[in-house]
Amino acid sequence: MNELVQIVFNGLSPLIIDDVSSEDARIRVRARTPATPAPCPVCGTESARVHGYGERTLADVPVDARRVVVIVRIRRLACATRGCTRQTFREQLPGLLERHQRRTPRMAAQLGSVVRELTGRASARVLPFLAMGASTNTALRALRRLALPARPVPRVLGVDDFALRTEGVNTRTKMIHRQMYGRAGFPLLRHRILLG
Ligand SMILES: [Zn+2]
Repeated sequence: MNELVQIVFNGLSPLIIDDVSSEDARIRVRARTPATPAPCPVCGTESARVHGYGERTLADVPVDARRVVVIVRIRRLACATRGCTRQTFREQLPGLLERHQRRTPRMAAQLGSVVRELTGRASARVLPFLAMGASTNTALRALRRLALPARPVPRVLGVDDFALRTEGVNTRTKMIHRQMYGRAGFPLLRHRILLG
């Protein structure tokens, strides 16, 4: 791939980019992992013996105000250690290909910061303009994944006390908001937290 592609997709540098194509509202990147050895998750022995291939599709941060979809060919490697309980394993790329994630970590971080500031429907309205998603569900899922703030929740609570005793997204949202805005009045909470 040429130098321009390397510059634009610098965040994908652990991967080898094979192709970049334009599809109307999105940019599709085809990439693969390098042929370097990876450690078996059970015994730790490194292996580069390919057992097969699979694909992962990940959303990356937007380019040219368009969505970026990265299709990565990943290897299933064979563990050569005699007696190891894991005969084959899928390679991991920490910091780029996290297990069960559909976004690159930097995309998840960007999405998280938008959702943290504009919870619920507000972020669902803004995200399409940032080429970062188009649905309330996207915003809700990102919100659920946000870690709760490490600071303790203030002991003096407002009219929404009852909600803090329930589980779920509303509670989490309110706790995050409480950390950010202090003790908010009921009208503000009602207008800012439109998840229910
Ligand atoms: Zn092993």
